[in-house]
Amino acid sequence: MLSKPQKIFSKSGIPSKYYEMMQNILELEDSVKKLDDNQIQAKIVELKKEYNSKPDNKNSVVKSFSLTREMAWRKLGLKHFETQVVGGLVLNDGKIAEMKTGEGKTLVATLPACYQALSGKGVHIVTVNEYLAKRDKELLQNLYNSLGFSVGLVSEGMENQERQYNYACDITYTTNAELGFDYLRDLIIDSKNNRVLRDFYYCLIDEVDSVLIDEAQTPLILSNNLEIPGERYTKAIWAANQLVPNRHFSLKPRTKQVVMSESGLDLLKEIFQTSNLYDPKTPWIGFVENALRAKFFFQKDQDYIIQNNEIQIIDKFTGRIAKGRKWSNGLHQAIECKENVQISGETQAINSITYPSFFKMYEKLSGMTGTAKTSEKEFQQFYGLDVLVIPTNNPMKRIDHKDIIFETKKAKFKKVVEIIQNSYWQGRPVLVGTTTIEDSEILNQMIRDCNISPQLLNARPGNADIESLTVAESGLLNSVTIATNMAGRGTDIILGGNIKFLLTDFIKELVYGIINLIPQNNYMITCGLADFEDLLKDFYQLVKNYPIQSILNYFENIGDIESHVPQTTLDFKIRELYFIMKNASTNKLIDIKNLIQKLGGLLVIGTSRHESRRIDDQLRGRSGRQGDPGESYFIISLEDELLQTYNPNIFKPFQGLNRTDSFSGADYFALSRAINLLQEDIEKLFYENRKSSSSFEEVLEYQQYRYFFFRNCLLDYEDTPNLFLNLCSLTTNLTPINNNLYSDNLFAYANSLDNLILKNFSLNSQSFLYFSYIIALNLRFIYGTSFIKAFWRIVQKSILLEMDEKWVEFSERISLSKDTIGLQVYAQKDPLQEYKRKCEQEFRNFILELQKLIVKKVVLMNLHSLIFLGFRF
Ligand code: ADP
Repeated sequence: MLSKPQKIFSKSGIPSKYYEMMQNILELEDSVKKLDDNQIQAKIVELKKEYNSKPDNKNSVVKSFSLTREMAWRKLGLKHFETQVVGGLVLNDGKIAEMKTGEGKTLVATLPACYQALSGKGVHIVTVNEYLAKRDKELLQNLYNSLGFSVGLVSEGMENQERQYNYACDITYTTNAELGFDYLRDLIIDSKNNRVLRDFYYCLIDEVDSVLIDEAQTPLILSNNLEIPGERYTKAIWAANQLVPNRHFSLKPRTKQVVMSESGLDLLKEIFQTSNLYDPKTPWIGFVENALRAKFFFQKDQDYIIQNNEIQIIDKFTGRIAKGRKWSNGLHQAIECKENVQISGETQAINSITYPSFFKMYEKLSGMTGTAKTSEKEFQQFYGLDVLVIPTNNPMKRIDHKDIIFETKKAKFKKVVEIIQNSYWQGRPVLVGTTTIEDSEILNQMIRDCNISPQLLNARPGNADIESLTVAESGLLNSVTIATNMAGRGTDIILGGNIKFLLTDFIKELVYGIINLIPQNNYMITCGLADFEDLLKDFYQLVKNYPIQSILNYFENIGDIESHVPQTTLDFKIRELYFIMKNASTNKLIDIKNLIQKLGGLLVIGTSRHESRRIDDQLRGRSGRQGDPGESYFIISLEDELLQTYNPNIFKPFQGLNRTDSFSGADYFALSRAINLLQEDIEKLFYENRKSSSSFEEVLEYQQYRYFFFRNCLLDYEDTPNLFLNLCSLTTNLTPINNNLYSDNLFAYANSLDNLILKNFSLNSQSFLYFSYIIALNLRFIYGTSFIKAFWRIVQKSILLEMDEKWVEFSERISLSKDTIGLQVYAQKDPLQEYKRKCEQEFRNFILELQKLIVKKVVLMNLHSLIFLGFRF
């Protein structure tokens, strides 16, 4: 007969090799248990040798996993479950492991991280926000260190040196944005010593679908500011308001585009008194199209909010403010103008990269998330990443109900409030998801009108700042939480409350009480204070003796008290109090948890379907963690944004009746089917968009890669004679190291072009180079290497500066031509092929221009040196 885990794995479709390896790892448990910490470290040193002679060897993987598992038990009190070991093996193999919320992905990551760290090339663990990176690093630091691995954290605001230090660690926790921008900054350094990143070896992305799919089309852009007169935006808005929809222009909501008609263009020419609306100096057409897009497609509190007199974009998938992100090509400024806030300067990109291209640079890439299966095709086609669904450790008990569909939003909200009220009076926690801030606020008010005080979590400042705590409190008795998509990822919702958060928050408030107020928080409400009064008084006296700043620093730098490794006496005291209180309240929390389980667990209500099923699944997935009971409903209406934006016509026959009850019978069947199909259609549309835009992006990224490769070669020269000799051959090396980065055709094509670039290098310049080489050798002989090196460094900086300026102009020209290339369709040509051809041609000229620039600068430098020498003699 099959054992329980065997049954689970055989049903899940996980290849049997993983099951067998997992068994081997578990079998080693008894022998590794006998080793002390030092002996385990010694084994790790042996494994490092094994890794270097034979990476990814099955036996070494098994040994490394079993050692990590044992150390996790000793240092964290957590032993990887069988499912977690299998998840770790899948990740170690460079695949995507779909593991449901609460299955312990943070711990799973330690298994492949420790194995791949044996390489010494650095492991990057990427999370979607800083809070998670910091939390995970803190939590796992002790485990990694005990195995002999160093662990680092790279976060916002760090100086270069700190970044270098942290990236040099065996394992580095950071966010996708930090990593991407560090890469872009590394490309434009003017001294090798400033480079922060090293190898792109093994990378594990947490919430991989969020990074590689949801954010795939939003490139990271490193930019300069440009001066554009603000009045242009005002004029454009005025002009846009003179245009009549469907006469002067038509709208394409799916792609958020505006198409001008002939009569529209004529009217604009008249308004702006110009015959050329596309004049590169003042391209009025772009300004007006942006004004129209700002007016019709971008709405306040849905697509953005206004904070500190600035437009802040709301990320459609996470519901969070997308910090520092701006819409490009003047759209952001058009929206600023529409909202009458200060118009920010437009920017000019120095370099940019999309997450897909960035992460493809890793030799081994893997990822984990609760929701990947529905995007399996995309992961496979774009990244060559297989998705394996890891079974849950305990069977899933959540009940996912069929959608309830109403005609109007009003009727929908009424039903939602009714269900919330019912649950609230029973004490059962409810989490309500909305897709817009506006909806979250409407619901918040409706619930308050029923004398219930919900927690509100949306991108507005103040709400978002306490996100983790709010989510942690969503599992409390009697809690009602209304959240935009942002509650979908990150913090664990535990029935009865997440004690780590509640208690950390409580002690924080207690300590801060020295500075201002009396503690009043959810932990007290849940667990009461009576038992701890004396203890708290003593503690209160104790912390009074510490400088306020050290207390503030402590709380600012920790995720939660439990995960923080104590260093100072204050840390130890706080930790001691934490554990006394935690132990004392454990039974109470277990009682509450049991009660909530009896009530059916966390109830999740979605109030609108999202453009992607994955995001809907994320919301549902907040309930039913680790075998808990749970329930989810989607209560939607035909007036919802999604249905109205993408295909309002199919729902028209069911509208206008003002019915207050939900649809049923044949109507329900037809509607439910139509909505599902629509969602699938939208997913396909987005997928196709990503595919086509990535093909275009790839071309520019390829040129970028080659330019910066060229630039790096230049940076590597410390002296001029060698540079002169090798300058020509710089171009031969322009082909990327990792051929897989680009589609084969493009790669082959570019390869042949590189040879052409070399041949085209003029003879004239060659003899010039030779001449310069002789002078440089003489200079070195007379003045010594260090003098020449210092001189070269000055010239090198000036060359790099000028080269980068030329690169910015070039890349701007290339990306602009992408927008016009669409017209080639009319000329019966394939736009992508045309674009590639054009780019390669321009790139060739560009490189020639750079070569001339370098020769000129270096020769001039030598002449200057000669003059300098002349003066000396
Ligand atoms: P996920 O990211 O998959 O949602 P987390 O990594 O946040 O899950 O873990 C959820 C909870 O499960 C945490 O409180 C963690 O301590 C606990 N947990 C994870 N693995 C184990 C284990 N092997 N044994 C006991 N508890 C575990």
